[in-house]
Amino acid sequence: MARIQRDETPHTAWCARDHRCGLDEHRSAAKVVAGGTGRAVVTRVRAGDVEYAEVHLRIPLSRREDTARTQLATLLRLLGQLLDAVIARPYAVPGRGERPAISRRAA
Ligand SMILES: [Zn+2]
Repeated sequence: MARIQRDETPHTAWCARDHRCGLDEHRSAAKVVAGGTGRAVVTRVRAGDVEYAEVHLRIPLSRREDTARTQLATLLRLLGQLLDAVIARPYAVPGRGERPAISRRAA
């Protein structure tokens, strides 16, 4: 029987420092974003030397099959845009670093 050897890693500045952390995995408290009847739960995770955001989405779908398919197509398209914005262009995300009301000149 193979035995998995894992080295304990210290807690981070942002992890929950409780039962959510493991020997070599540290997890933040979950942040919940609600919109309409849907919600997203985001957790920051460090596993070994890799760090990532874990996102769980719950999005209600229409009972009408054609509308549900449209909703799923929209979800897939926007998730692709979201991943691109967060991973490839983190400083281009609207609302981050942009302060149009301050930079706008009075006419
Ligand atoms: Zn921890």
